[in-house]
Amino acid sequence: MAVTEGSTPTASSGVLPPLDVAPRIGRLRERLDDLGCEALVVADLTNVRYLTGFTGSAGVLLVDGSSAVFVSDGRYRTQAEEQLRDAGVDAEVVICSTDPSEELLGRLAAGDSRVGLEAETVTWSAQRRWAAELGEERLVATSGVVAGLRLVKDAGEAARIRTACDIADRAFAELRPRLGEGPTEVEFALELDALVRALGAEDQSFDTIVASGPNGAKPHHRPGDRRIVEGDLVVVDFGALVEGYHSDMTRTVAVGDVGDERRRMLDVVLEAQDLGVRAVAAGVEASVVDAVCRDHIDAAGLGETFVHSTGHGVGLDIHEEPRLSTRSAATLASGFVVTVEPGVYLPGVGGVRIEDTVLVTEDGCDRLTLTPKDPVLA
Ligand code: ZN
Ligand code: ZN
Repeated sequence: MAVTEGSTPTASSGVLPPLDVAPRIGRLRERLDDLGCEALVVADLTNVRYLTGFTGSAGVLLVDGSSAVFVSDGRYRTQAEEQLRDAGVDAEVVICSTDPSEELLGRLAAGDSRVGLEAETVTWSAQRRWAAELGEERLVATSGVVAGLRLVKDAGEAARIRTACDIADRAFAELRPRLGEGPTEVEFALELDALVRALGAEDQSFDTIVASGPNGAKPHHRPGDRRIVEGDLVVVDFGALVEGYHSDMTRTVAVGDVGDERRRMLDVVLEAQDLGVRAVAAGVEASVVDAVCRDHIDAAGLGETFVHSTGHGVGLDIHEEPRLSTRSAATLASGFVVTVEPGVYLPGVGGVRIEDTVLVTEDGCDRLTLTPKDPVLA
């Protein structure tokens, strides 16, 4: 498959194309028939953001065949009106003094429409409340509906993820030499986080992982006060957040001479990761990309130490659909943004993980993470 490295004019110019939010509710509306409901309640705040542009912490969206109602509380009166208007979203904005879901319940109670709820978001107690008010027979459990719409990133979304990746690349390039100066894991993580913010990110994508020496054997090690020393493999996994969109990258750096066993771990994962990236293309099953990485690590005799899936979608959430795993049923399509991140972890020895974020294209992928993978710290 063709692997390209696109230029990042948006990242360097600082001008991002607008997000095309307005048509999204219409796309969701087209799905209602297939879901077997006349209306869908969107309570997942990331899904709400995707559909409306609203970034606050309380809001519920109701979409039916002809209209949409967005309910928030008094804290967000001005913000909700501004953000939906700026996004060109055709929805009535209602501000209530109670739980926004209660407001929707009151509105729906009088009708007889079948109402879809997001099964992954609505708690058991909330479902019981809805059932008591509307009747169990009016409720439809839906799964992954908005997540499905979010799979293909439009130009504005891809530009934000690309910019987030670019910030992470630049931060790592600047700070990488510090790994040879004996910082603690926490010190290095804090410096990296500060640099990501200074370069224009609104936040970290997630809590930065810096796992040195034996700590590297824990894939999601929390940085501690261990000092990085000669002979360590150091796993650094972090990302930047740009207007709600995430980046995700991991590099493993060998500090000085790490010996034959660790060097071999590095080589195997570097090869597996490269094969995985080259396997990505529209039309390829996500499980195939996982298998390409896994088979290579298996063949090297390290299969049992590759203890997680190969990758995941990245967008408004750091981990979203599709999953690149053994059991994934997803097929990649042009416009998906996914990570490829095989790793091996040996207790008492250390860990290696290499991760890029890539944009799926018709005949391959466009690498969004451009940090070189040469693992040896000069
Ligand atoms: Zn990561
Ligand atoms: Zn990841």
